[in-house]
Amino acid sequence: MKIKDMFKKKKTVVSFEIFPPKIDVPVETIYNSLEQFKALNPDFISVTYGAGGSSKSRTAEIASKIKHDYETESMAHLTCVGHTKEEIDNLLETLHGKGIENILALRGDPPAHMPDFDFSKNFFKYASELIGYIKKRNNFCIAAAAYLEGHVDSKRLKEDLLYLKEKVDAGADFLVTQLFFDNRLYYDFLDKATAVGINCPVSAGIMPIFKASQIKSITAKSGCSIPAKLVLLMDKYCDNPDDMCKAGIEYAGVQIRDLIENGASGIHLYTMNRPKSSRKVLEIAGLTSLTNPEAEIHTPEP
Ligand code: FAD
Repeated sequence: MKIKDMFKKKKTVVSFEIFPPKIDVPVETIYNSLEQFKALNPDFISVTYGAGGSSKSRTAEIASKIKHDYETESMAHLTCVGHTKEEIDNLLETLHGKGIENILALRGDPPAHMPDFDFSKNFFKYASELIGYIKKRNNFCIAAAAYLEGHVDSKRLKEDLLYLKEKVDAGADFLVTQLFFDNRLYYDFLDKATAVGINCPVSAGIMPIFKASQIKSITAKSGCSIPAKLVLLMDKYCDNPDDMCKAGIEYAGVQIRDLIENGASGIHLYTMNRPKSSRKVLEIAGLTSLTNPEAEIHTPEP
């Protein structure tokens, strides 16, 4: 099913994001977690492409497995950085051949060892070009990334918003946001997006914080801000990892509850491949109808 049609039917579309295991780790490790994620009954599960060093080659395979074996709709992420047109054609063919109907089309980041990567030499320079290409070539439902606080490389927020509009005009059917910790950013963003003519659904990206070190690396990479409430939590629990984890789960759950109460069209949970913690977040968020009480989750998390 195309995810854009879910937004027409449901008040809030709830999705999970997972990443494939690294290539030296058996792919089966993610399948154990998938059984547990399915039990939480998300509307769809998305699979990253090379993010955080995860294997690119496994995205299509896992997205296909989610859809066909776990009978849950899936979305494959696809980045164009470092890819030729022919490679993108092959990747689209593979996804189409596996019955994948939904793609999150991204520019991506240069590999860590190539900080001076020259995007002007890439066949697709921006995600908007990739989106326009996919739209003309295949009948996929396409999502794009949105940055409530601006993309880290953008010089001005206003400019970033206009580039986002280009992605929607090129054919993005819905948007998924970068993680954020202050819901006012999301509500303000919706107003600004509407003002420039972006009218598609915007799914709110929420990442629970499990440890204090995680928040530092995430904010350094994404440039997202940390509200004072969260700084206070980090200070309070800096010597107590278990309580920090509980507080992070609680924070994300409360954030989601507020977003749903205020009419967010979608919640996209960055699960970090942790089904047990994801279930706790959903319970705090009041999405109890999503959880299956029969589903017991035994596997320990990293
Ligand atoms: P773009 O929309 O192309 O924007 C990149 C930069 O170029 C921005 O600064 C923008 O302002 C600027 N820009 C855009 N258009 C123009 C133009 N016409 N002229 C001048 N400047 C322009 N990365 C992965 O590697 N794998 C993943 O699976 C992955 N999943 C993600 C999921 C989500 C929900 C999000 C929010 C991000 C994800 N990322 C992933 C990270 C993403 O690849 C990076 O943030 C990347 O730096 C930007 O990708 P983009 O598609 O937003 O790029």
